[in-house]
Amino acid sequence: MRLNKKDLNKILSILAEGRELFVPGQVRGIKQFKLWEGEAPELDGENTILPPKDILFPKTEKMYTYKTGTEAEIAEIVDMPERIIFGLRACDMRSIECMDSVFIREGFEDSFYARRRAKSLIVAIACSGAGVNCFCESMGLDPNAAPSADIFLSDGGDCYGVEANTERGAAELKKWAEYLTEGDVPKSETHCSLAPAMSRELSKKLTGIFDDDELWQEVTGPCIQCGTCSFVCPTCYCFDINQADAGGEGVAFRCWDSCMFSDYNQNAGGHNTRPTKKQRLRNRYLHKLAYFNERHGMELCVGCGRCISKCPAHLDIAEFIDKTAEVCHD
Ligand code: SF4
Ligand code: SF4
Repeated sequence: MRLNKKDLNKILSILAEGRELFVPGQVRGIKQFKLWEGEAPELDGENTILPPKDILFPKTEKMYTYKTGTEAEIAEIVDMPERIIFGLRACDMRSIECMDSVFIREGFEDSFYARRRAKSLIVAIACSGAGVNCFCESMGLDPNAAPSADIFLSDGGDCYGVEANTERGAAELKKWAEYLTEGDVPKSETHCSLAPAMSRELSKKLTGIFDDDELWQEVTGPCIQCGTCSFVCPTCYCFDINQADAGGEGVAFRCWDSCMFSDYNQNAGGHNTRPTKKQRLRNRYLHKLAYFNERHGMELCVGCGRCISKCPAHLDIAEFIDKTAEVCHD
């Protein structure tokens, strides 16, 4: 099916009816996902600087309220409006697949994420501009396709090619019917800027360099442990739980955490299982490229390049992949 670009705002109005609609746009000069307020979304050019992760997994989230004493009670906070994420790209769609696997499919189900995910419809779009640090193709993705999105748009010049990948997407397209016409558009041909030598074979070999102290010293030396890489990463999902207590009652909330912080692995007794930055960054890279794959069947890096672009110490996970591909080469 095709959608004339001049009708895009009408489609956005349909999507926003009774639902929260998130689109790429500017917030305080930073391209990121924001609530749609009638403006044209920024679908072209490079991807958003910040990922759409916080729409499904907020930076800070209230979990439950409590009261202590003889009338003790706990009440889970259930406040999940229907929402649409419009205009996200293949790399960010894969990052949602990673979070789905962690929070819903493999083991314990996180009710907060699961409820929010169940109420979210995703309209993805073909990538229209790779940034200088993009390497999603090396991570096995096609920037011109997002098969797990409910609806996928490809750019056909003055129109979009529109296809539904799920029943939910097909039901949504019925609401768009008066603006859709028959026909396809050719597949977009965006390609990544970088091509590090990542492969499933390398992923399996990476744990073999765990004890290569010289390599880890060299790779991790410049890191200043700021945590930026975790916070701009679409797949980092660690969180910390805290309480705001007002004497006998309060609220428990969780907020994003980073494995780069020195107290991340501090246990209640004071012992720290990863006291050095070498251990922490080694864990980050191996979790992204090897450990996650062992459990979930995919890497926890989608090649978006955001951590490379934003690291103040110029650490580069694509360079790391190439370096280890040489070291691990038989
Ligand atoms: S962004 Fe760079 S300097 Fe900051 S914690 Fe990550 S790797 Fe280290
Ligand atoms: S590790 Fe870096 S390149 Fe990989 S998904 Fe996270 S931010 Fe993107």
